[in-house]
Amino acid sequence: MKNIVILGSTGSIGVNAVKAVKNLGKGWRVLGIAANSNLEALGAQLRALKPAYVTVFDYEAWKELKASAPRGVKVLPPGVEGLVELASLEEADIVLSAVTGAVGLAPLLAAIRGSKHVALANKEPMVMAGELLMKEAGRWQARIIPVDSEPSAIFQCLASVKPGHYDDAVSRVFLTASGGPFYKTKGSLAAVTPAQALKHPRWSMGPKITVDSATLMNKGLEAIEIKNLFSLKLSKIEVVIHPQSAVHSAVEFKDGSVLAQLSVPDMKLPIQYALTWPQRAASLAGPLDLFKLARLDFAKPDFRRFPCLELAFQAARAGGICPAALNAANEVAVGAFISGKLRFTDIPDVVEKTLAACRGDSRSSLTIAGAVEADGWARQKAAAISEILRKRLK
Ligand code: NDP
Ligand code: MG
Repeated sequence: MKNIVILGSTGSIGVNAVKAVKNLGKGWRVLGIAANSNLEALGAQLRALKPAYVTVFDYEAWKELKASAPRGVKVLPPGVEGLVELASLEEADIVLSAVTGAVGLAPLLAAIRGSKHVALANKEPMVMAGELLMKEAGRWQARIIPVDSEPSAIFQCLASVKPGHYDDAVSRVFLTASGGPFYKTKGSLAAVTPAQALKHPRWSMGPKITVDSATLMNKGLEAIEIKNLFSLKLSKIEVVIHPQSAVHSAVEFKDGSVLAQLSVPDMKLPIQYALTWPQRAASLAGPLDLFKLARLDFAKPDFRRFPCLELAFQAARAGGICPAALNAANEVAVGAFISGKLRFTDIPDVVEKTLAACRGDSRSSLTIAGAVEADGWARQKAAAISEILRKRLK
């Protein structure tokens, strides 16, 4: 029996993960689930999955959960504490981390230190402190299997290379991006509304990552995630706009051979693979119809029109706390944009101004505590910058 803990079970990844677990059938069980505050969705999952453990982050929601949880399910503490407890459960074989944002760092670290098989969707901690997390994973013999479609594609292409030797074997990684909803939009993007940005042409995802896909920050975050996950030089990562989202990424080896992973754009596939790795099982994602697809287009990204992409590469090159600061500033700016307090084009502005106050460190003497501190500091800075920009909006 494989016991799975799903952090962020009510989200886009979480719901698809539950479907994947059901699809895998006998021998797979959801042991514990956690969300932020969506008790309606969580309640339905509690009834359907009958996990042994549950929690929510939000304290008000937690009090309600505590009062209403079905008998037989243990309600763990609210906040980070509960997430960490879930991720550390002795009985858990696999921890799927699918919460949004930096809040996933502590439970991810706990899962690693518990030597779990970690299925990782939550990319933000890998941006903040990925090198350190990979070192910890090595030390604790925890396996981190990427869930995100592009890192999963690269992971699959690298299957024949011994971990730790990826950079020797690889000359380039083609990190593909659909381009998001505005890639072909002409003129200024200043008037883009949250509703427009929340409509992704290919993927149905949670609000934060959908906006990140529209600014292309998502690709920047993925570039940093990939650099850290596979210990690759940043200069080897090439972002490629590929509107069909059929090639989920490709790897060029030093002999010039390029391996790519293709499939329909359906997250149920990489989620399931991250659970079953190194095995494969029939999935709920349909087959790829090459004849219907007919063509594959590739183009270079426009770094000037989508400055978030350039900012992410800059932060990665600077190193130290800069990626953590980039991520925090972006989380703040995207939140403000979604709630109508900032313009779409203010997002890179907030990130750039926050990064300007951040000193890099190419020696990479980063600590987890340092990344957490930088996250807090950058959030404050980004909130102050957002407030100045918001006043200008009026
Ligand atoms: P959603 O917004 O759809 O879901 C987020 C989930 O996390 C929800 O269950 C939410 O609970 C929960 N959550 C949010 N904050 C907290 C918190 N503080 N404590 C506990 N639970 C919390 O996001 P996605 O599923 O789209 O994305 C999740 C992660 O996966 C992100 O890091 C994203 O970048 C990554 N990812 C997502 C992809 C996708 O296709 N969606 C693809 C690749 C990566 P509640 O419902 O109560 O708010
Ligand atoms: Mg992705």
